[in-house]
Amino acid sequence: MAYEIKVNKIPQSRIAQLDQKNIQFGRLYADHMLVAHYEDGVWGSPEIVPFENISLSPATTFMHYGQAIFEGVKAYRNAEGGVQIFRPESNWKRMNKSAERMGMPDLPEELFVEGMRKLIEVDAAWVPTEPGCSLYIRPFMIATDEFVGVRPATKFTFMIITSPAAAYYSKPVSIYVQDEFVRAFPGGIGMTKAAGNYGACMYPAQQIQKMGYDQILWTDGFEHKYVQEIGTMNVFFVIGDKVITPDLNAGTILAGVTRDSVITLLKEKGVTVEERPISIDEIEAAYKNGSLKEAFGTGTAASVAPIGKLTFHTDVMQLRPVEEWETMNWIKTTLDDIRYGRKADNHNWVLKVC
Ligand SMILES: *Cc1c(COP(=O)(O)O)cnc(C)c1O
Repeated sequence: MAYEIKVNKIPQSRIAQLDQKNIQFGRLYADHMLVAHYEDGVWGSPEIVPFENISLSPATTFMHYGQAIFEGVKAYRNAEGGVQIFRPESNWKRMNKSAERMGMPDLPEELFVEGMRKLIEVDAAWVPTEPGCSLYIRPFMIATDEFVGVRPATKFTFMIITSPAAAYYSKPVSIYVQDEFVRAFPGGIGMTKAAGNYGACMYPAQQIQKMGYDQILWTDGFEHKYVQEIGTMNVFFVIGDKVITPDLNAGTILAGVTRDSVITLLKEKGVTVEERPISIDEIEAAYKNGSLKEAFGTGTAASVAPIGKLTFHTDVMQLRPVEEWETMNWIKTTLDDIRYGRKADNHNWVLKVC
């Protein structure tokens, strides 16, 4: 093992603060965090230390020029009472894609995956036992040069923090098809989990939330014709007996780990899944002729979220009651069964922690 992971434990656990029946996402963080620093072209050994505030110079690069990327992963309490992480290697690979595009250093697999495994082992008590709950894991990397000149940074910090997450209640979401603002365009950073992608979406999100919608379905930057994704979730449409999701070829869409899992499981079941450009016109035509059966988003945070209503300009597409959605309900149950260890992990997706 190249890295020795030092563990500096908190003197007294804060676990008593965790009310499992009333978990509010992102408010409470587990006892420990992982920290590693990059300097002179190498990553130092990671340390697991008590979760605490960090002190940074106001000139720290990422605060000014946005070299900041993150990941989202979850650990689940399995049927035997153990703890397991879902597909952390996929997140590691994706983090390195984000890092490359943002001029940030590659993270060794051991640092990311083994560092995460060790952190979750130390804080295993924070993985809720209540049904449907999980421990959300947030790895991130920031540029930490103390320098306000514009240039790619040379010093970076990688950290992992975790926060208990409640069962996600998949109330159908109301989606607004955005054709004024643009999230991503070819050659940009749409396929990265860069902090700036989120920053750029806050104002459009505020606007549509004022109008009563939950989230935006983004369209391409040239014609505003082809749908991309929901900004925290990839999107799927069930049209007739086919499942259609936008392809990743333009580099404008985040390659979701949930998206990949959904496609894999559906194909294995014998369902036809098409990854290809899909236009809002095609979706509207399918809605009008009755072949648009289901529409849903996928992501680590929400798992699988049904789209109840899709609004494009003044056209409102109201989908049928979610209870009747065979595909979405099957995929959600199947995915959850694998995540929580109720179903065999035939894909080697699950990393057992303890
Ligand atoms: C994280 C994210 C997703 C979902 O990816 P998962 O790996 O399934 O969690 C989708 N779109 C964007 C923009 C994201 O940042």
